[in-house]
Amino acid sequence: MKAYRVYGAHDGRYEELPDPVIGPDDALLRPRAVTVCGTDLEIFNGSMFYFTSGLAKYPIILGHEWSAEVLAVGANVSNVRPGDKVVGECTVSCGHCEYCHKGWYNQCPTRLETGILNLDGGFSDRMRYPASFLHKFEHMSFEEAAMVETTAVSVYGVKLVNTGPGDYVAVLGPGPIGLEALQAAKAYGARKVVMIGGRQNRREMALTLGADAVIDPRTQDLVAETLKVTDGRKFDVVIEATGNPAVTRDLMKIVRPRGRISLIGLFNSQVGELDLDAFVVNNITLQGSLGSPNVWDETIHLMETGRIRTAPLITDRMPLAQVDTVFKMMTEKRPELIKIVLQP
Ligand SMILES: [Zn+2]
Ligand SMILES: [Zn+2]
Repeated sequence: MKAYRVYGAHDGRYEELPDPVIGPDDALLRPRAVTVCGTDLEIFNGSMFYFTSGLAKYPIILGHEWSAEVLAVGANVSNVRPGDKVVGECTVSCGHCEYCHKGWYNQCPTRLETGILNLDGGFSDRMRYPASFLHKFEHMSFEEAAMVETTAVSVYGVKLVNTGPGDYVAVLGPGPIGLEALQAAKAYGARKVVMIGGRQNRREMALTLGADAVIDPRTQDLVAETLKVTDGRKFDVVIEATGNPAVTRDLMKIVRPRGRISLIGLFNSQVGELDLDAFVVNNITLQGSLGSPNVWDETIHLMETGRIRTAPLITDRMPLAQVDTVFKMMTEKRPELIKIVLQP
């Protein structure tokens, strides 16, 4: 098989490797579309938290946002068959520990994360995958389905803070996750969803995807605009999808008492000087959100019924052999680039 494997910081190789051998509980997959994430770039750069902390080890075949066709299945597999179109949960957990039993398998201490944490991913034309972590889809393209993973992360972050019809919701950061989170908040009934972000084309995309308003924190008064778009209340729910430590200073300015903040972005650094008293006296919930347990079926349903759209986020298509070029494009941060899909 052909795959893109990272051996260490700035050492990624597109190379020929032996085909994976499947066990009785596995499926052999042919990845058809893989989208590239900031996390892939961080793993390539050597800056990603799991690798700097020693939790994850090189080498690894990247790719956690993929869709695939089933080529073959092991003797024990009954949930998928050859020919099925599938996506796979990023987290592959043990199934036996206390966290797994409680359904919190994103916290399983011996979990693997596809293309990130000690399990090879979809930057490849063949892949072995434990079949019980696969989900079938029919009514969307392979490209759209490659973004089920990011969408599920967004859906989980939105659901963890019980977003519902009473809520004015702010999404900080109009990257792919933020643009999906805004649609997820809408899908779960939020009263009003407002995108806050500095890049104009992303704010325009947010409006296209259903945002009720947008705020540019670089040129507008964040608090004044917040009061304007929330009818004087401030936000009930704030979804943090930037991972930018500087943004944390804004959180308390825009959230109302009893508000809930969902942190989806990884900061990859210590964030200093949070005024914790403000959290206490305002009864603020600060909710960390890792991964996407238990939301894959509903995410696929929301996407297949058009309530969350990912196709508009795909701005570039490249062959798998061009990963190095893709990383260069992402590092240059061309403003029109949102999501790049690789075709293995
Ligand atoms: Zn990702
Ligand atoms: Zn476990």
